[in-house]
Amino acid sequence: MAKLSSKARISPMERSKSTETPETEKMAKRKLKKEKLQKPKIRLVSADPQISEKDSIEITIEKKLIALFNLQQIDSQIDKIRIIRGELPLEVEDLEDEVVGIETRIEKLENEKESMEKAISDKKNIKVDSLALIKRYEEQQKNVRNNREYDSLTKEMEFQALEIQLADKRIKEYEIKLEGVGENIEVAKIDFKEYKEDLDTKKGDLNDIIAETEKEEKELEEKSEENQKLIEERLLTAYQKIRKNARNGLAVVMIERDACGGCFNKIPPQHQLDIRMHKKIIVCEYCGRILVDEAIDEAVKKYE
Ligand SMILES: [Zn+2]
Repeated sequence: MAKLSSKARISPMERSKSTETPETEKMAKRKLKKEKLQKPKIRLVSADPQISEKDSIEITIEKKLIALFNLQQIDSQIDKIRIIRGELPLEVEDLEDEVVGIETRIEKLENEKESMEKAISDKKNIKVDSLALIKRYEEQQKNVRNNREYDSLTKEMEFQALEIQLADKRIKEYEIKLEGVGENIEVAKIDFKEYKEDLDTKKGDLNDIIAETEKEEKELEEKSEENQKLIEERLLTAYQKIRKNARNGLAVVMIERDACGGCFNKIPPQHQLDIRMHKKIIVCEYCGRILVDEAIDEAVKKYE
């Protein structure tokens, strides 16, 4: 009985204990399990952040530098295309001016030729008139009444003969000049033909190049825009600002012979070391351009 009673006495306690504890134990175990499952996760994140964050910073900065340098090269290509296309029309314009100049020269020479031909024909008319007068005076001399009249006519005839001589002299001079003008016109016409042909060829070439470069430029612009998306806004704005202020449009430059590839000022060794670490974005202390090393250049080449 005592056993029973004790059993009966104990058993409800034990039962209550046993019914309570297993449940609480189970719950506690479950809680622990949950915590165990969670804790390592938290621990992984909280234990490694110094390393993992560092890693991710290094990777992102390196990636940023690669994206920036790649963008720089694309934008520089666009700059180059625009410069070439800007210079070509100037060459055509020069040729156009040249052609217009030759046309004006030919016009002037033609006018000169015309006035000289008129002068020659004027002198020839004078000769005809003088000859007619001489003939008339010869006839008149046959009917003179005295020596004075005869001498007077002789003087007139001599004067007309001189007029003819002078006209002949002028005609000869004009003819020589006319020959020169004619030669100049021929030369100018040959020049004109050559320049005109050159101009037409250049114009054709220019149109081809413009079409070609416009296509290339558009492709590069799209590529540039794609690349810009890889760069955070703040950095992109800085890049664009530096590029705008730089005369050669370079915002990101390589270290070249221990110097900044943008302004050619020497970079201190410690600075160079920092640049090669890719842990920070470093700008040239003289010109403010972003500096990268050969490794970034290599990465961009691979990237392409
Ligand atoms: Zn510099």
